[in-house]
Amino acid sequence: MKFLNVRPKNQIITRMAPSPTGELHIGGLRTLLFNYALAKKNNGVFILRIEDTDQKRLVAGATSRILEVLKEYGLEYDEGPEKEGDFGPYIQSERLNIYREFVDKLLASGHAYYCFCSQDRISKLRSEANSQNIPFKYDRYCMDLAENVINEKINEGSIFTVRLKVPDNEDISFNDEILGKITINSNEIDDQVLLKSDGFPTYHMAVVVDDYLMRVSHVLRGVEWLPSTPKQVLLYRYLEWEAPKFAHLPNLKRVGSNKKLSKREGDVHAIDFLRIGYLPEAVLNFIMFLGWNPKTEKEIYSLEEFVNDFDISGLQKTDLVSFNTEKLDWYNKEYLKKLSSDDLNKRITYWSRRFNQPCLLDELNGSYSQNNVLEILNLVKERMITFSDFNGLIDYFLNEPNYDKYLVSKYSNNPKKVLEFFLIILGEVEFYNLKDMDSYVHMRVKESNLPMKEYFMTLRIAITGETVSPPIIDIIYLLGVGNSKKRIKNCLDFIESSL
Ligand code: GLU
Repeated sequence: MKFLNVRPKNQIITRMAPSPTGELHIGGLRTLLFNYALAKKNNGVFILRIEDTDQKRLVAGATSRILEVLKEYGLEYDEGPEKEGDFGPYIQSERLNIYREFVDKLLASGHAYYCFCSQDRISKLRSEANSQNIPFKYDRYCMDLAENVINEKINEGSIFTVRLKVPDNEDISFNDEILGKITINSNEIDDQVLLKSDGFPTYHMAVVVDDYLMRVSHVLRGVEWLPSTPKQVLLYRYLEWEAPKFAHLPNLKRVGSNKKLSKREGDVHAIDFLRIGYLPEAVLNFIMFLGWNPKTEKEIYSLEEFVNDFDISGLQKTDLVSFNTEKLDWYNKEYLKKLSSDDLNKRITYWSRRFNQPCLLDELNGSYSQNNVLEILNLVKERMITFSDFNGLIDYFLNEPNYDKYLVSKYSNNPKKVLEFFLIILGEVEFYNLKDMDSYVHMRVKESNLPMKEYFMTLRIAITGETVSPPIIDIIYLLGVGNSKKRIKNCLDFIESSL
């Protein structure tokens, strides 16, 4: 039998168990990262398991998109779909016979019972509970059916579910690695369905069987699963298995909000952040701190460093953790700064192709030498928050600007005089490199005793149409003297016709 496989004693085994009901949430990526780090740090095993037992909620293609997004973030699992280990299969719908065996065991030991109630009856009970504002609990109508009645119904082909027999009025406790001791009275727990009428186990049944058979030692998951844990604790007890250690991570919230991060307020899927053009390493670094604290000042962490430093004791006990996109922007800028122009070129190209994003890089390559493209990238690198900003930042390298009447005369009472001055000096000598051009132009402005700000800002506006840009002489050098003079002339024409 497959599930008699063994793992080394005390090995740390973690897992991420997404349901393919949609895209992986950024909070899910955070949970995954923590599980990944805990396993890797301890030379353990990190498992990816697909929990697709709720057939009604499956979304076509979701599993392959989950696998894809993990690849994009560089988070490799040790065992999982497409990477079979000894404890697979790792997709729950392929393990139905395994669950059935343990459901039968629970039935035999009297900890579970058949329920033949129709969907209609259950719905009615549910709406009655709703209208009285009390949580729904199955009324145990089928709990004490005689064996011959049960057999008869099964032989007739009646549809059934199997329910957990929850003990009456018993405190169920477990120790959460983050939250401490959690106790819930069993009277608050419904006789949970374990096996559904379609023959699939419910999440609760499958998760316990799989975590046990895969020898998971630590379950790190979102706090929304906390109410499920007592039911799972009961299942471990009734199956006579030792439960793994549990740690429930705080939910995320937007800054200034006190509600869980939701799609309505912005992007929440792990893939969205890459589509916008954040670097995966920056997103990872950002989410490392969503609920974990290294207890030092260190903020920049590679995945490897994080794995080294990660420890469950650094996980924070708090209600909600702020998801501060300004901080994410900061991280992205830090990582962009560190990229060479060559790498930046490759990363932007990959991004635009992978996410089908319109990108002017190709046009830049068509209009400038390879070297100059790298120079341009270097100039705009520190002005970019994400790759989505790229087109806006390099537009004036490709297109002549449109002028704005207000801007053109914003820094000078006599922009015509300023521009004519530059037109002359740019034609005075031939420039062989940027440094020469830069010192010559500055020297000429200085020796003529002209106001620097007025002159260079007006020049900047004539060349780029904007008030903020990288050093203007760098831009002129890359555009070339000919093109730059043409822009200055265009601006003079504009002044002539409009001011
Ligand atoms: N399948 C559950 C989910 O979609 C897993 C919960 C757990 O980690 O136990 O998140």
